[in-house]
Amino acid sequence: MKPGLFQYVRADDVEKAVSLLQEFGDEAQLLAGGQSLVPAMALRMALPDVLIDISSIAEMRSITLTDDVLRIGAGCRYVDVLRSEDVARAAPMLVQAIPFIAHEAIRNRGTIGGSLAHADPASELPACMLALDAAIVLQSASGARTIAAEDFFLGTYSTALDEGEMIIAVEIPAIAVNQHHRFLEISRRSGDYAISGGAFVLEMDAGIITAARLAFFAVGDCAVLAGSEALLGKPLNAETIDQVAQRVGEEITFYGDLYNGIGAKRQITKTLTRRLLAQFPGMEL
Ligand SMILES: Cc1cc2nc3c(=O)[nH]c(=O)nc-3n(C[C@H](O)[C@H](O)[C@H](O)COP(=O)(O)OP(=O)(O)OC[C@H]3O[C@@H](n4cnc5c(N)ncnc54)[C@H](O)[C@@H]3O)c2cc1C
Repeated sequence: MKPGLFQYVRADDVEKAVSLLQEFGDEAQLLAGGQSLVPAMALRMALPDVLIDISSIAEMRSITLTDDVLRIGAGCRYVDVLRSEDVARAAPMLVQAIPFIAHEAIRNRGTIGGSLAHADPASELPACMLALDAAIVLQSASGARTIAAEDFFLGTYSTALDEGEMIIAVEIPAIAVNQHHRFLEISRRSGDYAISGGAFVLEMDAGIITAARLAFFAVGDCAVLAGSEALLGKPLNAETIDQVAQRVGEEITFYGDLYNGIGAKRQITKTLTRRLLAQFPGMEL
């Protein structure tokens, strides 16, 4: 199919983009990497009257690591993030996660901002942002605001973005000493959307878990944190892992997908939780 008629405008900076968003309101949609929006337009599931192309905004393509905060511009493509030494140093989870996203051609165009704004419940990056305790930086014509990832994802394809706002960056606390990142997903074939996935951050002191953020995706209506409290104050051993997997199965409100019912999703997610926790250093199996 072909898309409906639309007007195309290009914004070369954030100021222009937000002023166009203000001018056209809900008739407009931003075009970043186009990897979700263009197929949706071709299928006429999205029918914007105006397309605001933000793909050439240079100020949204930078990655910086300052004062233990990693800032990734929303216009950075997956491939930019994958190749960044600052990301590898400060947020190794992203380097583990990005190869699971689609295929190379899509990773060469798709952007961080596009993935987060699209808020597909099966996407990897929203869960990573939850686990990493990231803040999402939003801009509109009337100013900027920062929102915790935990408050940003509201449901399937639904976020806390207000009309006239766009994502300009994410800010991630750099990995701390004693902190460890692990990412894993289970899918039918490499490159497929996940059946269930997890992005885990654990902090340990003398073999005891002192902080935990376990985030899951492709299991509910959006990325979700679950089971983290069951780890606190405990050693990472087989008994703890069993208890946490059980809690995860109870805490998440599972949704089925085309191929997997709710029961299968719960079972697979418990298995995924066990496998992921077993990858952390200091496991006492
Ligand atoms: C075959 C295929 C397989 C895929 N597999 C996966 C997968 O396994 N995992 C996964 O996560 N994704 C997958 N994707 C989707 C891909 O990751 C997209 O790149 C991503 O969802 C959207 O990023 P984009 O930059 O292409 O955004 P676009 O398609 O340009 O935009 C998507 C939406 O976000 C809005 N938007 C874009 N940028 C901003 C911004 N800065 N602020 C506010 N709103 C914005 C747009 O207006 C639009 O509504 C797949 C896509 C395809 C075609």
